[in-house]
Amino acid sequence: MLSFDPEKVLLPAGHYIDGQHQHTQGASFAVKRPSDGKVYATLSEATAEDVDRAVTIAHRALTVSGWRSCPPRERGKVLRRWADLIESDLLLAQLEALGSTRPISDVVQHEIPFTAEAIRFYAECADKYSGDLFPTQERSLGMLISEPYGVIGAITPWNFPLSMASWKCGPALAAGNAVVLKPSELTPFSTVRMAELAVQAGLPAGILNIVQGSGAVTGSALVTHPLVRKVSFTGSTITGARIMSDAAQHGMKPVTLELGGKSPQLVFDDAGDIDVLAQRILRGFTANGGQACVAGTRLIVQRGIAQPLLDRLVALCQQPRPGVTWQDDSRYAPLIDDRQGKKVASVIAAAKAEGAEVLVGGERFADTEDGWFWQPTLLCGVAPNNPAVQQEIFGPVLTVQEFDDEEEGLQLAAHETYGLCAGVHTLSLPRAMRAMRAIESGTVWINRYGRSGDFIIPTGGFLGSGIGKDLGRQAFQACQRQKSVLIDF
Ligand code: NAD
Repeated sequence: MLSFDPEKVLLPAGHYIDGQHQHTQGASFAVKRPSDGKVYATLSEATAEDVDRAVTIAHRALTVSGWRSCPPRERGKVLRRWADLIESDLLLAQLEALGSTRPISDVVQHEIPFTAEAIRFYAECADKYSGDLFPTQERSLGMLISEPYGVIGAITPWNFPLSMASWKCGPALAAGNAVVLKPSELTPFSTVRMAELAVQAGLPAGILNIVQGSGAVTGSALVTHPLVRKVSFTGSTITGARIMSDAAQHGMKPVTLELGGKSPQLVFDDAGDIDVLAQRILRGFTANGGQACVAGTRLIVQRGIAQPLLDRLVALCQQPRPGVTWQDDSRYAPLIDDRQGKKVASVIAAAKAEGAEVLVGGERFADTEDGWFWQPTLLCGVAPNNPAVQQEIFGPVLTVQEFDDEEEGLQLAAHETYGLCAGVHTLSLPRAMRAMRAIESGTVWINRYGRSGDFIIPTGGFLGSGIGKDLGRQAFQACQRQKSVLIDF
């Protein structure tokens, strides 16, 4: 039985610096539960001085603790122990379910195992990619040595707090860096617990530090700090642009940016079993209440299959029932907060004003008091410039566009702003390969939608969806910088 009493969850203190919980003197902010909008904690934000303290401690800890210079395999051992603790910690799962939009069953079955496995993946990378040798001439040798950057500033969003933190911390720590992480101010607690567990696993104090606060104060102080050598960010495209500019102006820091998406689900007449397809499309845009960067929110369907597919989707959209995230039988995620709820409502209103028709949903569930649970929504009759097609809504809203031939389908699949993911559904391999080549996006899924824990394949967007990759060995290597060395004997 996974249900728990939300009033009885023991919250850690806000900031975690140098292996200790710390309070700061910054402005206070309230933290609310997405399920019912109730304020369950008040935290003080980390000011620029607090961030300076955290970064300075992290910088010092790298040399004092030996983390940077220890044999990489030793770092791998610590990370493996950390992953084991993450997997067995009930409080961590409860903090994630309480404060985020993920129901406890989903946290326990997916978020926690994925978080632990991502860390294990990077534990394995720790001693695998150290550099290269170039025996250029008989009496000289060239070397390319991979080194950690030093302190990496990591900034994460609210939609998958734990796994996003593991995607940032796993590779950075395995490569011998220290991390100062600022989670979203909307979901601060699970990340602190994760950092406590890291220290329990043997990570030296000061190597992973958590600072809480807004992007404007805490986040910006982290990005611009002179001792932060690289910034790894996941969040919206607009914030990513700001961070890239701040990082460039404060030391020309490299950035990894995992940003927003508006991903197409391109369905051809020959896509196979229509019931399987409908389930796949539904999951693609309703998982986590549609609050996933990779959500497949634009259905682009060939006319011959459109009606039967829509009939099934309409029926499936009527099944989910809302339920607070701390109950065992809840499956459907609320929107994160009031602001997000109003945003979803306003984009749907704007879409309708531009000619969209609501095929199903279109409203907040009536019986959920202060939580914003949004009905799965299908919008048809949308032109390519409709706001619901153009904007990342971050709610369970699917636009429907129909096409006659492959060329038209591919044209509709292209997006001016985003290029994060795409689903291509067809049993014709040549057509799938043509579509995969033509679509300008960082990931293409063929006859599936979603990654399901395969950490070996990196993820990252084209266009306004980002720069660089998370996951895979690429993310590990992106936490190292290469030094070229030439020796004459
Ligand atoms: P957001 O951009 O509003 O905030 C993300 C983080 O950035 C938060 O921690 C925030 O406090 C911080 N921040 C805001 N302004 C900042 C500044 N000026 N300097 C430094 N930090 C700042 O995004 P969000 O609403 O928390 O998350 C949703 C967005 O994240 C969506 O656009 C979603 O697509 C994207 N996302 C992308 C991926 C991916 O892998 N591509 C994964 C998850 C979420």
